[in-house]
Amino acid sequence: MTDILPGTDPVSQAALKDEILRAEHISKRFGGVVALNDVSLSIYKGEICCLVGENGSGKSTMIKIISGVYTPDEGDITVNGRQYKKLTPITSIHEGIQVIYQDFSLFPNLTVAENIAINQQLASGKQLVNWKQVEQIAREGLAKINVSLPLDAEVSTLSTADRQLIAIIKALLANARIIIMDEPTTALTQKEVAALFKVINGLKSQGMSILFVSHKLNEVIEIADRTVIFRNGKKTMDQDAKGLDAKKMEFYMTGREIDGQAITFGEVNQADAPLLKVEQLNLARGFFDVSFELKPKEVLGITGLLGSGRTELALALFGELPANSGKIYLQGKEVQIKTIQDATAHGIAYVPDDRIRQGLFLEHSIENNIVVSIIGRLVNRLGLVNSKRKASEAQRWVRQLELKTPSPELPVKSLSGGNQQRVVLAKWLASNPKILILNGPTVGVDVGSKAEIHELIRSLAQQGLGILLISDDIPELFQTCHRILLMRAGRIVEEYKRQDITEQALNAELVAAAPVRADASASTHVSAQP
Ligand code: ADP
Ligand code: MG
Repeated sequence: MTDILPGTDPVSQAALKDEILRAEHISKRFGGVVALNDVSLSIYKGEICCLVGENGSGKSTMIKIISGVYTPDEGDITVNGRQYKKLTPITSIHEGIQVIYQDFSLFPNLTVAENIAINQQLASGKQLVNWKQVEQIAREGLAKINVSLPLDAEVSTLSTADRQLIAIIKALLANARIIIMDEPTTALTQKEVAALFKVINGLKSQGMSILFVSHKLNEVIEIADRTVIFRNGKKTMDQDAKGLDAKKMEFYMTGREIDGQAITFGEVNQADAPLLKVEQLNLARGFFDVSFELKPKEVLGITGLLGSGRTELALALFGELPANSGKIYLQGKEVQIKTIQDATAHGIAYVPDDRIRQGLFLEHSIENNIVVSIIGRLVNRLGLVNSKRKASEAQRWVRQLELKTPSPELPVKSLSGGNQQRVVLAKWLASNPKILILNGPTVGVDVGSKAEIHELIRSLAQQGLGILLISDDIPELFQTCHRILLMRAGRIVEEYKRQDITEQALNAELVAAAPVRADASASTHVSAQP
């Protein structure tokens, strides 16, 4: 049911000139949770508006209200000059609002052409599919965003990035005026992100409006015309994106100053013997001729695009994908790392990027998760776990890592992403490692916790650990690392000292060359602009 409020006066009509959508004084509660509290948001013609905010700040709720999925408790929405108390999904689509959902709502077993044309085919009401027409529609659709995809490829064979493009084309063919993308770059490589941004900018130049929801500030800086920031269900910023930097955005997202200048890095004593030395390490289809050293108290960054071999290298050092040839020295002694047991016995710990799947037992208590790797030490002669020692060991890490929880007996799933990541760290630190390998330590963690985890990484290094930090988050590398190795197609191609390169320059280096190996074929085919 759509309630259209009568009588929009001519003055506000004039003010609506370039404004396609205006959501005013929107509030939405779920039980006791106030998801949105008196928030107003406008979208103008031909702009890229970035909606930014930490997890839980209300971004998705706003999108669902604009697209008619949720009814606001208060406030109203004006689209194309028509005022609504609430929108339904159908009215929202009629008004030209299209949301690109994370799963893209495609049919995996149909071809590219069929997926693009399916709505038109269904709408035509004809029983027989007109293949010529399907192809024609698909070709026109692809031309709209200036990309080429194989028309008869099954969608299931395409990369995430290419599927996303099909979803965008479908939105365009449904007469979109506003395209809303909720965290669209989550599953994309940097190169695919660049291709998507090219498409988004192309849409903008055709007069389309884009609402781009993200919490990746470097992306927002690159693409936004206007930036809107939510914090705890309130709008804290709405302004032209020009001149906005990450620091300012972080402040409006968190309400806290996260001061990049105040960071202190621990000193690495260059005279110290390396903790870890790797010589000419090779793994078939993984990496080649990798050599480097890691000193005590040092944080060494390893960066590269997805498929550069960075994760394979970590897994080789952790014994999960043992190297085929080359040498590994720990504190000067050559060691064999063929299994995970070898690695842990030598004091190497690995924290994977997918902590939910690989690192934690979500249903189990925080305490059990922390002690899982040292349970052998807590067992008495009768084979029973000493629960007092278990609790005190867990408490020690809860304090040391400043874990925010009312009780370590609560399940891990009750914690926020940032605190879950601390539990993973605690679990590994409890085993007293010498070398810590962190893979994407803040993936999916909000900005405030991110800064805290970076602080933790720096202080762990200062206590004497050697840390290998694998990440493609450039600001993260600059917040934590003494040195950064750049990998490309399985090789280390550069080494930088943090103070010798800027974030912009490293970003350019990272994106400069595409991965040369198998996964390159899965990337988007963006044809050259005419
Ligand atoms: P964001 O997209 O910025 O991460 P959301 O809009 O998803 O934030 O969530 C805002 C707040 O509203 C959160 O506290 C979330 O838990 C709550 N919330 C969102 N949707 C629902 C729902 N369907 N039921 C209950 N609470 C919800
Ligand atoms: Mg969301």
